[in-house]
Amino acid sequence: MDVRQADKDFIWHPFTQMKEWHKDSAPLIVAAEGHTLIDADGRRYIDGVSSLWCAPLGHRHPELDAALTKQLSRFAHSTLLGLASEPAAKLAQKLVSITPKKLTKVFFSDNGSTAVEVALKVLFRYFRLTEPQGRRTTFLSFQNGYHGDTLGAVSVGGIEVFHQDFGPLTFRTLRAPSPYCYHCPLNLKRNTCGLACADKAAELIEQNADQLCGVIVEPKVQAAGGMIVQPDGWLARIAGACERNGVPLIADEVAVGFGRTGRMFACEHDGVEPDAMCLAKALTAGYLPLAATLFTQTVFNAFVGDYRRTFFHGHTFTGNALGSAVACAAIDIYTKRGFLERINRLATLLSGLLERFRRHPNVGDVRCCGLLAGVELVRDVKTKEPFDQQQRVGHKITVAARKFGIITRPLGDVLVFMPPYVIPEDELERLVDGVWKAMCEVLGAPSVTSL
Ligand SMILES: *Cc1c(COP(=O)(O)O)cnc(C)c1O
Repeated sequence: MDVRQADKDFIWHPFTQMKEWHKDSAPLIVAAEGHTLIDADGRRYIDGVSSLWCAPLGHRHPELDAALTKQLSRFAHSTLLGLASEPAAKLAQKLVSITPKKLTKVFFSDNGSTAVEVALKVLFRYFRLTEPQGRRTTFLSFQNGYHGDTLGAVSVGGIEVFHQDFGPLTFRTLRAPSPYCYHCPLNLKRNTCGLACADKAAELIEQNADQLCGVIVEPKVQAAGGMIVQPDGWLARIAGACERNGVPLIADEVAVGFGRTGRMFACEHDGVEPDAMCLAKALTAGYLPLAATLFTQTVFNAFVGDYRRTFFHGHTFTGNALGSAVACAAIDIYTKRGFLERINRLATLLSGLLERFRRHPNVGDVRCCGLLAGVELVRDVKTKEPFDQQQRVGHKITVAARKFGIITRPLGDVLVFMPPYVIPEDELERLVDGVWKAMCEVLGAPSVTSL
């Protein structure tokens, strides 16, 4: 069988313009090991975005492979509807022990979007159950936020190109400004703004508290929105407003959870304890689709009582045994002594390596947080004028990077660095260097004087 042809004939690729795809000869991955992907021609590539952010321990990790094989010799799946399951119970216990103290109950599903749907539906229903006369029917979300592609998650999404067309199918939410310092929505300067955008969000929360079922936020980094790193203290101010006004805070840690930002969970940077937390991507270290939404005892208790208080929601593969077993093994690795320190050491190296990008005439901003970085490309650094979207600058750099043995994926014209935590230091250097060369090939190298 001609596999490449089968792909072109039969697969509709996600988030992909299929006209480009048919012209493009993207690598056909047939194997992987550690931080490396291997294609059908035997070429090896650094997995520069951890297989879309979900494989921080790399591929074919011996401990994860062993955990999966061991579980496979027992059973692959049973249901949590009416039955308990050994690996799911162990995983729930581990999740409660490593997440903020307030979170005591785990609801399993199978991807980041469903983890968000669960958070939204539980909190909506929580207020139906506890405030029968109440008017709470909406959520507050942020410009440039991304929470998944199902309709509830799209309703709280704030990325125009992805979300705007679906308006008629989605529910109304309040939208607060994005903490996007490089393109400040309030036209202020970071050193003098006093976090005015957080105050604006706090004001919206206060004014609409009696209508809000929750505030949903990506802690520390709005990832899909362009690796937009929040200033210190921003999240604490949002959390403070939620607390003062009795509005639950949902932390969507799907992209940033499990060490990516240098802390186990990104809300720890600001000392924030959310009322709900969504986890997926790195939960199984990219081995299997599995997600979890954690809640407080208070929220859970509202659903306990007569039959009608039941949370009528649950996916077929909820708490899947293979996924849970591999997630337990992944968490054992994430929580090993010195593991976060290693991430932070690599993070320092990464941000140092990215310094040279700042001197390129098309680099507007370089944003780093832990082992995650975004390099925003613009047509003109003085005016911050973006490239014409049709030019597909980010995409062209991705294609060029393959020649240098790099797999990466931009967010529009923001180049993304999300390497696996297991990447050796010299390979991290090769990753940054390869993307640099690809960028210079597409946009030209900076003149010698600016270096
Ligand atoms: C990726 C992502 C999601 C959606 O997860 P899927 O598994 O792709 O459905 C939700 N929230 C955030 C912050 C994400 O980065």
